[in-house]
Amino acid sequence: SSIWTNVPQGPPDPILGISEAFKRDTNPRKVNLGVGAYRDDDGKPWILPSVKKAKEILINANLDHEYLPTEGLNTFRQAAALLAYGNCPEVAEGRIAALQALSGTGALRIGCAFISRFYPHNKIIYVPKPTWGNHKNIARDAGLEVREYSYYCPTKKGLDFERLLSEIDEAPRNSIILLHACAHNPTGQDPSHEQWAQIHEVITRKQHLAFFDTAYQGFASGSTDEDAYGLRYFVKEKSPVLLAQSFAKNFGLYGERIGLFTAVTDSSAETDRVVSQLKILGRAMYSNPPLYGARIVSTVLNTPELYRQWQQDLVTMSGRIKAMRSALVEKLKEKGSPHDWSHITNQIGMFAFTGLNAEQSQTLMTRNHVYLTLDGRISIAGLNTKNVEYVADAIETVTR
Ligand code: PMP
Repeated sequence: SSIWTNVPQGPPDPILGISEAFKRDTNPRKVNLGVGAYRDDDGKPWILPSVKKAKEILINANLDHEYLPTEGLNTFRQAAALLAYGNCPEVAEGRIAALQALSGTGALRIGCAFISRFYPHNKIIYVPKPTWGNHKNIARDAGLEVREYSYYCPTKKGLDFERLLSEIDEAPRNSIILLHACAHNPTGQDPSHEQWAQIHEVITRKQHLAFFDTAYQGFASGSTDEDAYGLRYFVKEKSPVLLAQSFAKNFGLYGERIGLFTAVTDSSAETDRVVSQLKILGRAMYSNPPLYGARIVSTVLNTPELYRQWQQDLVTMSGRIKAMRSALVEKLKEKGSPHDWSHITNQIGMFAFTGLNAEQSQTLMTRNHVYLTLDGRISIAGLNTKNVEYVADAIETVTR
């Protein structure tokens, strides 16, 4: 027998497994609302015009392929931190410790590994219930204890805000609290400005540490400032934060794996020490981060003309998504659905949390060839003017 005889078959990933089932489906009407990737109105991946121009600039620059330093491309790290935190003393004084990372997932992983090695308190991380399916895997594999705080109320189809506050309050002092900066995945439900202040109040009072995950900055509202409101509020109030940034969605650079992990520090000397340790973590995991995505994002963020174009690209993507939310709800009404679907237009970001249960979601897949995760989450980006009526019809049928 082989050494690996006792290795059991692992379960398929709940999200990536949906894409595999979609690929196997031969029905021409099939629609993939499972994976969170932006599509244009023809259902095709979209290369942002700003990114296209940056790529042309990079080709003409005829750059080499030497290793990046472990901390990543400097011009990228600085521009990305400025994008997230805005013009603030922390940025100006060199108090942002940054490590280029393998997209949002890699930034989260580095952050959790840093907590695991250096956080001087209990290594317990609280994630919202529900949350992006990978958060728990990442934290657990980095050695953290994962717990949940209430986030969403299925009957209200909105935030379960009182319970959120009380459960963060009840968490042991100095816990790590993971927060989606905007476009909460999967619920599409974000705190209001007032609610951010309340969340901040309880986190500060309990001396918890906020770990922000921002995978949709600018992609949610169309404004990079608005989508950074919660994070910047904490920083303005002088609260310590950690941040994992992804440039997969807002630059359409999914497979390029470009992200950034940052920690706000007390001084530039502390920044140097933290970065030195982040580099040691990165060195042992993958040695140096990939070049291409860093060069693209840096070129866009550091070239005024491309930056303006990118702001427009964000409005194009977020605008199309908002239009598809309205179209879906309108079509459902037209089909005579008696249910209240207004939560779909109230939600924000890539996803809608439809309220469909696992059985209805399964029926949509097997009978209607519309693919979604079993929690009823649909990627609005998968809708377009050609398939929205078909999808509305299918949803109306399974919820009848
Ligand atoms: N956080 C959240 C909330 C996400 O939705 C995603 C993407 N689905 C990520 C992080 C990270 O994705 P990536 O590693 O592709 O940047």
